[in-house]
Amino acid sequence: MSAPHGVFQLLRGPLDWSYTTTPQPHLDGREIPISGGRLLGGGGSIHYQSWFHGHRLDYDTWSARGMKGWSWDEVLPAFKRSEDHELGASHWQ
Ligand SMILES: Cc1cc2nc3c(=O)[nH]c(=O)nc-3n(C[C@H](O)[C@H](O)[C@H](O)COP(=O)(O)OP(=O)(O)OC[C@H]3O[C@@H](n4cnc5c(N)ncnc54)[C@H](O)[C@@H]3O)c2cc1C
Repeated sequence: MSAPHGVFQLLRGPLDWSYTTTPQPHLDGREIPISGGRLLGGGGSIHYQSWFHGHRLDYDTWSARGMKGWSWDEVLPAFKRSEDHELGASHWQ
């Protein structure tokens, strides 16, 4: 797996909307920088490409509420197909 660490050089530059929150009372008044992709493709063009599985219970709840094909057992094969790691398989594989 490789991650686009060069993305950090894009932050707060011309391809970043460079938003900032209002002063946050529960963070001692600090303003928090929030990035947003200012280019074709939006945030997806500059993001870190990291992701993680949701919890089994979430998928099974969606499925039980009528989302056909979204149970954990149905989505797990798709997760497996999209994953690879130089250190080998995880306990999910
Ligand atoms: C630096 C960074 C790292 C991230 N890393 C991850 C990650 O590792 N994993 C993950 O799952 N998610 C990550 N995200 C979040 C993810 O990229 C976003 O949640 C996702 O791209 C949002 O998609 P969207 O289509 O809702 O909005 P956006 O992709 O933000 O699309 C909105 C589009 O509208 C345009 N726009 C906005 N305002 C205007 C305006 N007034 N006029 C014209 N155009 C306008 C923007 O330029 C942009 O192209 C990251 C985001 C950033 C910024």
